[in-house]
Formats: sequence, C-alpha cells, structure tokens
Amino acid sequence: MAVDLHIHSTISDGTRTPEEIVATATQRGLYAISITDHDDVAGVARAQRAAADELLVLPGVEVSTDLHDAEVHILGYLIDCQNEPLLAKLAQVRARRVWRAREMVKRLNSLGVSLDYAQVEQIAGEGSVGRPHVARALFDQGVVGSQAEAFRRFLHKGGPAYAPRYKLSPAEAIALIRQASGVAVVAHPGLCRDDEAVEEVLQLGISGLEAYHTSHTDLQTEKYLRMADEYGLLVTGGSDSHGPGGPIPVGVGSVDVPDAAADALVIWAKNNGGHITAIG
Ligand SMILES: [Zn+2]
Ligand SMILES: [Zn+2]
Repeated sequence: MAVDLHIHSTISDGTRTPEEIVATATQRGLYAISITDHDDVAGVARAQRAAADELLVLPGVEVSTDLHDAEVHILGYLIDCQNEPLLAKLAQVRARRVWRAREMVKRLNSLGVSLDYAQVEQIAGEGSVGRPHVARALFDQGVVGSQAEAFRRFLHKGGPAYAPRYKLSPAEAIALIRQASGVAVVAHPGLCRDDEAVEEVLQLGISGLEAYHTSHTDLQTEKYLRMADEYGLLVTGGSDSHGPGGPIPVGVGSVDVPDAAADALVIWAKNNGGHITAIG
C-alpha cells in the first residue's frame, strides 16, 4: 500500500482525467490519493465518484503564492469544495490567467508577431493556460525554432511580451483555505530554493509540510521531516504527477509516501471539521 497526495488532472495542467487517475491508482494498489489541481477543485468530486469505495480520495487544491522573490506553492487539503468564497477566489485567479495570456498575445501582436489567442487557447485545452502554451503557439507558427527561444526572446520575466501573473500572498492563500475548513500545507519546499521564505510561511498559519516530493533528494526529505517535527506540522507527500507528456511526467504513486500521511489528514479532519467528501 502507498499514498500519493499530490496529483494534477486535466482540470488544470495534467494530461489525465480525474477518472483515469483513479483507475491508475486503483490498479497500482494505492490506499489514498488527493487530486490537487492548480486553482480548481472540480476534479475532486469526479475522482470521488469514480473511486467509490475502492480508494480514499481526499479533497485538495494547489495555489501559487509569492513571498519576496520566492514562489511558494500552498496545498489546501480537506477543504469544503462547495465553499463560496473559495470557489469565487479560485475563479478569479483562473480568469486573471486567461487575461494574462491574452495580454501576452496582444503584446506580441504589437511587436509585429502574428498570433491569434484562439491558437493559444486550443493548445491549452480545458487546462490552465500559461506561458508554455503561448511559447508552443509561437513555435507552431514558425516564429521561433523552439519553446526555449520563445521564452528567451519574448516571454521571460521582464521580456518584451511578458505580462505579470496575478498571485495571492501566502497569508491570503492560507486564510482562504482555512475559512473553507481546510488544512494549509507548504508544497515541495525544496523547489522554493529558499528555506528562510519557507520558514516565514510556516509561521503564517500553516499546518503541514510536503516533505516527500518527486523533486526532493533523500537529504531534503530528511531535512523537511525534521523541520515538520520542529514546527509540530503534519507531514504530507506526493508525486506531483501531471501525467505522460505533462510538465512533471512522473507516474501516480511514484514517490514513497507513508500511509500515515493520509491517516493523519483523516484524523485532522475528524478533530477539526475538515471535509473528507466533496459529493453532497
Ligand atoms: Zn507546485
Ligand atoms: Zn503540483
């Protein structure tokens, strides 16, 4: 048995549907998973319906935040997936993302590059649109020889076609998750490359730390297990699987995460009024 508490589906930028993820997790004999799409909880109920009694599917969401120069991702588990303020804020973040991609196309147009937003939209599909999709559209158009060139010439931060991303502050994201009865967890602290920023966020109302993650070395895992212990935090972990061909193409269940991580969340939900089910 194993658990995987960090998985993206087609609802954001993953390549597998929630139903396909459940089928894979069941096949691999996992005990519990969580669908943690960027800025969207629509995959949770779909996964829970598909899982029925075969697999424990815990509600989750992932939100990107900025602290100083570090990007800190915050996972919200056991959230009420019907919570109005949560749904409204996530919808606003998604709408701003579309606005940003349109803005980058406009800036490219004003630089004399012919590109239509519809092409970008088609590449993004139903998932969350972002710079990689604009880069891909530029490549498809033959404007650049590679997506890396698109970033180098146009889309890098401060570049001629760059538009800033709208992000919540860590405090806003944590408050949003908590008011929706959820538990806030710092995702993949190793990817922040700034332990001071991580420790600053830990003091804003965080209840857990994702010590186990695809990107973490064994030494990092040990360090974050110690940090979780020091701050009295829950320990979580997952693959961050985005499916084959996705930005992080590792498989569901590919990181060793103890079952106790899922059990601790279930106990937390019972003691603190968290939500285990998204199906009303
Ligand atoms: Zn992340
Ligand atoms: Zn993620």
